[in-house]
Order: sequence, then C-alpha cells, then structure tokens
Amino acid sequence: MTSEEVRVRFAPSPTGLLHVGNARTALYNWLFARRMGGKFLLRIEDTDVERSETRYEAQLMEDLQWLGLEWDEGPGTGRAGDPLENERGAYGPYRQSERQSTYAGLTQKLLDEDKAYRCFCSPEDLMAEHHLAVQEHRPQVYSGRCRRLSREEVEQRIAAGMPFAVRLKIGDEPLRFHDIVRGPVEFAPEAVSDPILVRSAQNGGPGMPVYNYVVTIDDALMQITHVIRGDDHISNTPKQVAIYRAFGWPVPEFAHLSTILGADRERLSKRHGATSIASFREMGYLPEALVNYLALLGWGAEDGKTETFTLAELVHAFKLERVTPSPAVFDFDKLNWLNRHAIKQTPSSRIADLVWASFGERLPARADASEAVHAWVARLVELIAPSVDKLDELAPKAACVFGFDPDAARALPENHAVLAADSARIVLAELADRVRTNSAKVTPELFKSWMNEMKAVTKVKGKELFHPVRIALTGVHSGPEFDKLLPLIEDGAELGLGIPCVHERVERFVGV
Ligand code: GLU
Repeated sequence: MTSEEVRVRFAPSPTGLLHVGNARTALYNWLFARRMGGKFLLRIEDTDVERSETRYEAQLMEDLQWLGLEWDEGPGTGRAGDPLENERGAYGPYRQSERQSTYAGLTQKLLDEDKAYRCFCSPEDLMAEHHLAVQEHRPQVYSGRCRRLSREEVEQRIAAGMPFAVRLKIGDEPLRFHDIVRGPVEFAPEAVSDPILVRSAQNGGPGMPVYNYVVTIDDALMQITHVIRGDDHISNTPKQVAIYRAFGWPVPEFAHLSTILGADRERLSKRHGATSIASFREMGYLPEALVNYLALLGWGAEDGKTETFTLAELVHAFKLERVTPSPAVFDFDKLNWLNRHAIKQTPSSRIADLVWASFGERLPARADASEAVHAWVARLVELIAPSVDKLDELAPKAACVFGFDPDAARALPENHAVLAADSARIVLAELADRVRTNSAKVTPELFKSWMNEMKAVTKVKGKELFHPVRIALTGVHSGPEFDKLLPLIEDGAELGLGIPCVHERVERFVGV
C-alpha cells in the first residue's frame, strides 16, 4: 500500500435489514473509493452478540452485491456458494467478534503506558455522581475519581476481585478533527470526560470493549484514511480522536452524512413506508435506479441539473466535497421517476427475466423456455413496461394477455356500464360475425378493416366502439395499443402456452 492510497470502509452492525440511510453510506464510501482508485472495505460490527444475526449479515452482503457495491476487502464475497465464507484482504479478520484478542492486547498496552486506568465505580456510585451533578447544575460527566487512585489501591482492589471498567485519560487539549462535509470540528475535553473503553466485567467474564474503542482500533489497524458515515456518529468522534491520540495513530479524515428525512421532515423510518433495500427489490425497483436515487440524497452534480446517472457515471462525477450537510428528504415520486427511466434504459429481455416468475403458470420455467418463448415474453414486456413505475406492476398489466376470463371481465364493476349499452351488444355481435366467417390469423390490418366495417355498419364510434371490443379481448377497457397487442396475442397462442387467440376470445366472450 502506498501511503496516499485511499482506504474507506462500510461498517454495518448485522442487527437488522440494510436500510436506505446505511445503503447511502455504503454507496458514498464505494463511490469515493472507486473515484480515488482506493479500496472499499466491508467490516461487520457484530459485537452486540444478543442482537447480531448471521442471516442479517448474509442479507446485507446480498443487498450490497445487488446494488453493485462489491467490496475489495472483507468477509465473504458471496461468489462461492456460502456468502459468509472466503474472507479476502490482508487486514482481517473483518468481523469484530473475531478481533477480541487484538482489542485486549491494546487495552493492556494503554494500561501499561498509563494512558488508561481501571475504574472500580459501581453503577450505583455513578448514578449518585450523576444526580449530584444535576443538582449542582454541573455537566453530567464522570468525575475521574478512580483516575486518582494510587497503584497500591488499584492492586488491592484487583486482588479483592472487584470488577472494573477501563477508562481513557483525556488530556486538556481540545479534540479536533476535520470533516469534509462540515469543515473543522472541535470539542472541549470536558465534554468527553474520561470515556469507558472496556465495560466492567460481568460474572467474572472478560469486559466488553465499547463501540468507540473497537471502531477506532479497527479503523487504525485497517489503515482507513477516510471515515464516511452517518451524522449520528459526530458526537462519538471526539472520543475516537482521543483514542487515536492515546495510541499515537494518525487521525483520519471524516465525512459525516446528513440525516435522511421523510416528506413530513421527521427522520425516515418504517412509518414512511418500506425503506429496506430488500423491500425495494421486492417491489421491483432496479438496483441502478436505487443507486442513482441514493446518490442524489445529499449530493448533486456539478452542473446543478443532471439527475440520471449510471454507476459508472457516478464514479466519474461523485465528489465528497459536494456532499451537503443539510438533511435530505426522501422523495418516492423522484425514485419512481428514476425507476421508470431505468426501466426504459434496460433491455426488455432482462426485465423479462426479472419478472418471469410473476407472470404465472402459463409460462414454463425460465430455464426450460424455448428461445421463441423468451423473445415473445420480451415483446410483451416491451409493450407494457413503458407505463409502469415499478416491476411489480407488470404482472397485473400482463393479465391482458395471460388472464383471459370472460366471467371475471363481465363481473368487473367498471365494465358494467360499457357492456350494458345497446351499442356494445350490437358491436360485439358484429365482431362475432366477422370471427365466424373469417378464420385467418388476426393481423392489425385485418382488425383495422373489421373495425372500419363495424363502424360503418353500426354507426357506433369512438369509446362506444372500442371499449366493448377491448373488454371482449382483454378483460379491461384500456391497455396497450391494438397494433402491437393483437400480434402478441396471436403469436402467444401459436406458442402453445394455452393463451387463447383472438378468435377464441371473441367466441368465448360473445358466445358465437
Ligand atoms: N456499526 C456502526 C453503525 O452501524 C458503524 C459506525 C461507523 O461507521 O463508525 O452505526
């Protein structure tokens, strides 16, 4: 590694699904690494044993890969079957649960060097201190009582088996760091007091190192140059700076990303609808649209107007300096607009593959389907996809081809008025006549000539003419243009998928 190489990390805790906020953090880290020709690491912060679950770890790796955010170093690449195997990189292990001995060794070093001390205060002692501070209107920080214990006192207490936490000695210097999004940030040492590094041991077991401590150790040992994360961690950063200082490690650059809000300006949460990456995938958002949208949540292009980007274009355009400190508001309409755009940019065959299973039992399994069937499904997608925001809207639209059911069509309330009109009965009788006397495959030209004749004969035109015909053929009175729909129906019928042809539809609907 050269000393200038950029190294960034995404450090999720596997305690739940990957949500929009964390996914944006991952994306900004990835984009910055790719733009700078650096490395993007994945580190699993699974020290909360009670809440961490392997399935969440597997899911978040899958989500990152689905978004296209491959990591250069970290646990499991997911490529060789088991997503949790195959760690790669020279700075592992990349799961905090596997790094406990490293933390323990460094704690001993700090104690030996007198940069940290054992704190024997019980929870009750600390609570009493806290109450006193509140009464006396002093900041509620640790008094540093155990910092003043003599070596003998400490040894006596250890010998007596008293449990202890380990605290860092904070000096008198202000705690400063540079934030690329917010500029220079400074905290007074009193605001931090002597933070706990390792919690008091319970039941004779080893004490658990705290988040601020392990995250700093890992970032330093993994040679992280830029820490890019959510702004809920700003207040943790001075403690981390103090830990870097105690070890004599260089302090990295920071970039704290603003909070993401819902339309009501409250922090984005489940109340605002589904916000996990897995649920966006299920709803039929394309990863490229989601990535494009996440990029715009707090960052904008230099020209102030371009909004559609591929991942590769983002790598080129993304600059951490242009990330705004103001909160970003999540806008589902804009995401939908980008998804529509992405759907239009995507070959129909790929969309067809993604939605195949949702098209129902008339289709054979994707792997078993002939090339002709694949091509036909792609044509269907091409016809119906331009009008949807999300891929989960395609199956209902495809019902105009797959779901022919005359009884259901008659029962649909919005069809009642159309079908009840005298004109509809007359039009459909004429249509049935033509079907009976002409067995040719119904091309758009033939169909157009039928419609013109029917218009001339019945004097019915416009909606009154077209709506009943459409209902008879597709079950609903609106849908894709006949010029493309009819050949699709006729070709689909020929493929032996059990899709009724135009003749069969009219015969079954009107009862020829
Ligand atoms: N595990 C922490 C979180 O998920 C990571 C914080 C950090 O990036 O330092 O919030």
